[in-house]
Amino acid sequence: MTDRELEELFDVAVKFHGHRCPAMPLGLRAGLAAMERLGVQRAQNKELYVLSETAASHAMACFLDGVQAATGCTYGKGNVEKLNHYRLAFTLIDVAMGRGVRVVVNPDRQEASLRSRFVELRAQGVEPQDVPPEITDPMIHAVMTAPEDELFSVSEVFETDFEPPRGTFEWLRCDLCGEGIFAPGARMRDGKVVCQRCEA
Ligand SMILES: [Zn+2]
Ligand SMILES: [Zn+2]
Repeated sequence: MTDRELEELFDVAVKFHGHRCPAMPLGLRAGLAAMERLGVQRAQNKELYVLSETAASHAMACFLDGVQAATGCTYGKGNVEKLNHYRLAFTLIDVAMGRGVRVVVNPDRQEASLRSRFVELRAQGVEPQDVPPEITDPMIHAVMTAPEDELFSVSEVFETDFEPPRGTFEWLRCDLCGEGIFAPGARMRDGKVVCQRCEA
């Protein structure tokens, strides 16, 4: 990836993510590092799958948006899964080849950023977009330019028999509300097809 391509990807990722912060770019670079080790391109559909050890708060949430932007594994396509282990780490799987790599953020790096002015302000309740750019931008620059092995450890490629969940085109109408639903969302009640909203 050229510097220009990386800049473009970063800009798209910031728009998608919503604010400038150091953790999203860290996820972006982690995703790229995993793809490079696996020798794969960004997922157009579900060629790749991310098993993320993050949970839904603070740096972990931002980090996973960066991983999604880099890998093309997105919640909409359903090829990201959150394991809620409260750790900045994930496994990227090349589904067809049955191979994966695990990326973990260097704990020294994480410890240092937790002592930063950025996190100090965040802990006081300042929103990421309200942290002054003179604090945020040097941190982003550092993440985007640091050598990969300072930021993460990337495992060797390993074999995996991971099978992603399969979708269905089978589709029905709810007999009560008339709305359309894919089959796994339908229930049979007294011989009628009932959706989960109507059943509730
Ligand atoms: Zn963020
Ligand atoms: Zn219904």
